[in-house]
Amino acid sequence: MHIAVDQWRRLKSACVVAMLVGLTGCPNSEHHKQAISASPAEFRHTGDTPLAVFCTTGQVADMVRNIAGPHAEVVALMGPGIDPHQFRPKPSDVLRLRQADIVFYNGLHLEGRIAETLEKLGERKAVVAVTDGLVASDDPRLLKPTEFEGYYDPHVWHDVELWSSCVDYAAEQLAEFDPERADDYRANAKAYRQQLAELDAECRTMLKSIPKERRLLVTAHDAFCYFSKAYDLETIGLKGISTEDEADFEHLDEVRRTIVERKVPAVFVESSTSPRLVNQLIEECRAAGHEVHIGDELYSDAMGPAGSGAEYYSGMIRANVAAIADGLGGD
Ligand SMILES: [Zn+2]
Repeated sequence: MHIAVDQWRRLKSACVVAMLVGLTGCPNSEHHKQAISASPAEFRHTGDTPLAVFCTTGQVADMVRNIAGPHAEVVALMGPGIDPHQFRPKPSDVLRLRQADIVFYNGLHLEGRIAETLEKLGERKAVVAVTDGLVASDDPRLLKPTEFEGYYDPHVWHDVELWSSCVDYAAEQLAEFDPERADDYRANAKAYRQQLAELDAECRTMLKSIPKERRLLVTAHDAFCYFSKAYDLETIGLKGISTEDEADFEHLDEVRRTIVERKVPAVFVESSTSPRLVNQLIEECRAAGHEVHIGDELYSDAMGPAGSGAEYYSGMIRANVAAIADGLGGD
């Protein structure tokens, strides 16, 4: 059984397409330039805190909360289940951003549809991409998949060590913006990086027991390339990467064959993508004599709801790692 071509077109809409649509400017130049505002020092804060800090995603907000401690009230614009590639700010969001003392965002074109708003905002206040330090140092861990047409893969937070590298950069930017409390920001960043190092070690331990042939992460979205590289898994996104519908069918066939051959026990649906394609794949594997089930839901681009534990970055990563270790037959 094949799914209809128009269904494929709809399913391809998530990450890559949204990212490329959200981009502006010439695709052949200045690919990696993303610093929107001048140095935060130019908009230096003087006086009392707490600072009003606005962040785009939950994971950026969680990072900044850990760095700023009691010196800031940090708000995330995008709540649980919100797709940052597709997020368009409402007038009330723009108003809130204008009222912020400083704004932090992921960068690497993750927030494609809010880029223009951030750019305008950067003319009059400090606006910081937490990944700018990685870009400035041309960090070799940054991935540039061919389907992103020369742009970096923005999903860096799924590699805990790489995300931890963004912490120091964000802390330095905050220290420049609010020098009176710079020592606190640097100390908090150091303590948070220590926590992240422990989290990273925990991830490695939990994933270690998955047998080699099963270390294959099949998801409906292509958000987990950094995760897979960091934790020694292969990854296949169910969405075809070609713009040709014909090639997408071939891709789905190849995924099915790989799952059956390697007896991969689980595939994963994510909080911000449609499970339809995954269900299709399960049926086809079953027809080929291999029983594959849907693993627990992964958090791809947004964090979990309040009370889930995954409303915190560390909880979100732990939930993903536990789901993957469970689903693929680890301990
Ligand atoms: Zn994404």
